[in-house]
Amino acid sequence: MPPSPTPRPPALCPPVRVLLGPGPSEIHPRVQKAMSAGTVGHLDPYFLEVMNGLRAMLKQVFMTDNEMTFAVSGTGSAGMEAAVVNLIEPNDKMLICVNGVFGGRMADVAGRCGAEVKVIEQPWGEVFSPEQIEKAIRDFSPKVVGVVMAETSTGASQPIEAISEVVHKAGGLLLVDAVTSLGGMPVRVDEWKIDAVYSGSQKCLSCPPGLAPVSFSPTALEVIKSRKTKVQSWYLDVSMLANYWGSERVYHHTAPINMTWGLYEALQVVLEEGLDNVFARHKLNSQALKAGLNSIGISYAAAEGYQLPMLNAVKIPDGVDDAAVRSSLLNEFGIEIGGGLGAFKGKAWRIGLMGHGARRNNVLLFLSALEQLLATQGYEFGRGDSVAAANAVYEGQSSG
Ligand SMILES: *Cc1c(COP(=O)(O)O)cnc(C)c1O
Repeated sequence: MPPSPTPRPPALCPPVRVLLGPGPSEIHPRVQKAMSAGTVGHLDPYFLEVMNGLRAMLKQVFMTDNEMTFAVSGTGSAGMEAAVVNLIEPNDKMLICVNGVFGGRMADVAGRCGAEVKVIEQPWGEVFSPEQIEKAIRDFSPKVVGVVMAETSTGASQPIEAISEVVHKAGGLLLVDAVTSLGGMPVRVDEWKIDAVYSGSQKCLSCPPGLAPVSFSPTALEVIKSRKTKVQSWYLDVSMLANYWGSERVYHHTAPINMTWGLYEALQVVLEEGLDNVFARHKLNSQALKAGLNSIGISYAAAEGYQLPMLNAVKIPDGVDDAAVRSSLLNEFGIEIGGGLGAFKGKAWRIGLMGHGARRNNVLLFLSALEQLLATQGYEFGRGDSVAAANAVYEGQSSG
C-alpha cells in the first residue's frame, strides 16, 4: 500500500522578531543581502579570494597575526569541538573553569575527546581569579586550560590576560571561548597570548548561525603537528582544513558558500564602523539599559564590575511571572529575550544587545514594553522612569 497522502505543511512565513536574547541576534541588512547572492563553486577563483579576505578580516577582529585563523563550518559549538579535539589526545590533562553552562559544555566535549578533565567551579555570575587557577594548575599540571570569556548563561565577563600569565608560566596552553565576546568587546588574541580561540557568527557579528571563527597560535599548531594520534574528528581536523584554507586548496568538505558571503559582509560592517566604535556602542547601549532597569528596581545577576555589555542578565523581581512576561514580550511586542538556564532558571532574564541589535531604538522599545507588562503583573514602580533614565544616558553622550 502506498503511504496515505499527508497535507502539505503551510508555506514558510517566519514572524518578524526583535532578537534581544542570548543569540541568535539581529542580522544586519547588508548581511542578509549578501547571503542572497548566487552560489559559486567552493574552488571558484572568486570564492578563494573571498576566503582570503575573510581570513584577513578575522585576524583583525581577533587582533592576531595567527596564520591559522579561519571559519569552521558549523555553529559556535563546532568551534569549541574543533579547538578541543585538535589540542587534546587521549589521556591528556585539561583544566576547565566552569561558572555557567558553556564551561560545563567544554568539560563534556573534553571528556568525549578522552581528556582527563579537572573542573574548577565558581558560583554563577562570578568569575575566576588568577590565584584560583594557579592553584588548580599546581595541583593538576594540565596540558590545556579552558575558560569562557563571556559566559552567556550568567552575563559574567572573565578577564583573560592575568589568567594567561599563570597558564603559560606553568607551560600550559590557553583555550578561550569567545563566542559571545567577539565583535562586542576586545578579544586580544596575540596580546593576551591565547593559544586557541573560537567564536560564532550569530552573536555580536550580526550574522545568522552557521560559521565558527577560530584561531590557533603557532605554539598550538606545533602541538597539533606533534600529535601521536590522529584527531578523532575527520570533519574538524585542523591539519586537513589547513590544506583547503591554505595555498594548496585541497578539497576537504564543501564550504557553506552563502554563509561565507554573510560572514564576509558582517566583518566588513564591523571593520567599517571600526572596532573601537563597535565596542563603545555595545557599552553605551548596555549602560543605558542598565540605567533604565535599575531605575525601576531591577538589578543585575552578574557581579558588579564583571558585567558583560552584550549580555545583560538581570534578576526577575519577586512576584513577577517569568514565563508570562517573556511570552507577552514575544507575542504582543515581537521581542525575544532569554530566560535563565541551570541555576538561573526562573530567576533571571537574559537581555542581549549584540552586534546590530545593540541600538538605542531596541533599548527604548524593550524598556517601554517591559514597563507595560510589569504593570499588568502588579509590580510597583514609576511608569516611564526606565525610558527616561536610559535616554538620560544617551543624551549625556556627545553626539557624533
Ligand atoms: C552560544 C554560545 C556557545 C555555543 O554556540 P552555538 O552557536 O549555540 O553552538 C558557546 N559558548 C558561548 C559562550 C555561547 O554564548
